[in-house]
Amino acid sequence: MSKLEVEAIVNGSVIDHIPAGQGINILKHFRMLDTQRTGAKITVGFNLPSKTMGLKDLIKVENKRLSQDQVNQLAILAPGATVNIIENSQVVTKYRPEIPKHISNVYRCPNSNCITNFEKVSSTFYVLRKASGLKLKCKYCEKIFDKEVVSQTLNTR
Ligand SMILES: [Zn+2]
Repeated sequence: MSKLEVEAIVNGSVIDHIPAGQGINILKHFRMLDTQRTGAKITVGFNLPSKTMGLKDLIKVENKRLSQDQVNQLAILAPGATVNIIENSQVVTKYRPEIPKHISNVYRCPNSNCITNFEKVSSTFYVLRKASGLKLKCKYCEKIFDKEVVSQTLNTR
């Protein structure tokens, strides 16, 4: 990250090294698009040049400190992301996503017969590491899905 990008924010979180195109999904994931209601100050860069990635997306959120748990949720959409926590214009903490053991109440189960789509039950997926990539297994119907399939079902309830 260049110095300039960090300087623009005094307190908050900078999510960097997001694969180009995933920035918008991360904003949805963290429900950051409802800015009129939350008043959140968010700066977004899409398709920024990156030495290591070609193009990347970047999100700066003022006055919000992401937790390691929240950063871990990026493991599905942006496993190579870096998150800098800024206080008084200084980077005080750096996080990288660790693949969580389970993800709750973020996505809906793609199985339309699953009880979580009928009853008021929070969805929970177990995260499985397979040779072909990350898979998510629904705790309730026990079906296994590619992460790309599940990540399109953001739980907006
Ligand atoms: Zn299910």
